[in-house]
Amino acid sequence: QAVYDRIRETDDDVQAFVTLNEENALQEAKALDEAVEDEQHLPLFGMPIGIKDNIVTKGLRTTCSSQLLSNLDDPLYDATVVQHLSDAKAINVGKLNMDEFAMGSSTENSSMQVTRNPWNTDYVPGGSSGGSAAAVAAGQVPFALGSDTGGSVRQPASYCGVVGMKPTYGRVSRFGLVAFASSLDQIGPLTRTVEDNARILEVIAGQDKMDSTSANVDVPSYSDALTGDVNGLKIAVPKEYFADGVDENVKASVREALNVLEQQGATWEEVSLPHSQYAVATYYMIASSEASANLARFDGVRYGNRAENAEDMMDMFMKSRSEGFGDEVKRRIMLGTFALSSGYYDAYYKKAQQVRTLIKQDFDQIFENYDVVIGPTAPTTAFKIGDQIDDPLTMYANDIMTIPVNLAGVPGISVPCGFHPENQMPVGLQIIGKHFDESTVYRVAHAYE
Ligand code: GLN
Repeated sequence: QAVYDRIRETDDDVQAFVTLNEENALQEAKALDEAVEDEQHLPLFGMPIGIKDNIVTKGLRTTCSSQLLSNLDDPLYDATVVQHLSDAKAINVGKLNMDEFAMGSSTENSSMQVTRNPWNTDYVPGGSSGGSAAAVAAGQVPFALGSDTGGSVRQPASYCGVVGMKPTYGRVSRFGLVAFASSLDQIGPLTRTVEDNARILEVIAGQDKMDSTSANVDVPSYSDALTGDVNGLKIAVPKEYFADGVDENVKASVREALNVLEQQGATWEEVSLPHSQYAVATYYMIASSEASANLARFDGVRYGNRAENAEDMMDMFMKSRSEGFGDEVKRRIMLGTFALSSGYYDAYYKKAQQVRTLIKQDFDQIFENYDVVIGPTAPTTAFKIGDQIDDPLTMYANDIMTIPVNLAGVPGISVPCGFHPENQMPVGLQIIGKHFDESTVYRVAHAYE
């Protein structure tokens, strides 16, 4: 009840929630009050959690913040992560706003509402998991789930001053996550603290027979990894993450964080990720190509809204998609369809896949000698609502430091590292680890925090 009171108190300003699950959630909470003793030891017993609205929840509206799915009121199943949370006795509070189909960096591409940054409501919360980050930052829920294809958990975490983890590709089941770019998408937790984050990931991670890309790799106890000890840790700091275009005050905060880790016995050296300059271009080829294929299923027949007054089947497909999708989604579908079309495939899609391999090899090489890579999460702090929405290329550049991590498939976390002295908005520190080594990422984040 306290959670819903807090949401009512703050959400007129913040606009984080698209759908509330109040009646069910309060009923579940009541049932837990009467739970038997061994249930009370379940890891998330009674913990309220918000879910990004591209994660399918049985019987609870799931819209991807798109008009095309605005009437998808009664999904037939739970995503695997939602099932895991419910098995751990967490309580699903409701569904959180996002950029439509997770395409964007400010949550302004939502067709539902504009979510505002709780630190200053003139500013965006980041995106695409802006609702998830804002809900945690506003104290509406202690935990939320987001999804990260090119930065969508870490960048809003950075802009809202919370902790956000993108796990290794394959660590968390994508079953029931509405697909944007299947080779990049991962679900990850947004929380107030690193410990909370570790405790959520250890519940949702693991192989799943419903997702053939989920990996058969043991899930360690991430909360046990939080030893506070970074003595002897070797940190790589890519010089490309301190290039022109990165805000000087953001750089200063990150250098200060490196000092803190150094005082605890870690060492750092400058390295290079030479192919990271191609990451944004590579990402927009691959992500848009995959999106154009994935979003073909939204035809007005199988899911969501169907246009009225169509003359025939093709007309019905076209009208449903034209009315249902927003501008950014259409832009991606066109870009992806073009890149995949015959005659262009080798020049664009295949070339992008080759560059992706080079970007991954940059990380492989660095991880031969270092434990983690550290830099800023984003080149700037949050910007004002309306400032970038008419300029897609500027918007895309928000993810310049998070995208390489998705392309390489490695884990990355954003933790708060101070405030910008001019606009007083939070700065985020990004810690990137080896494949399936979330434990070290959490250990470093926790020692710094
Ligand atoms: N901002 C990036 C995009 O629009 C990343 C989005 C995401 O991670 N879902 O594609």
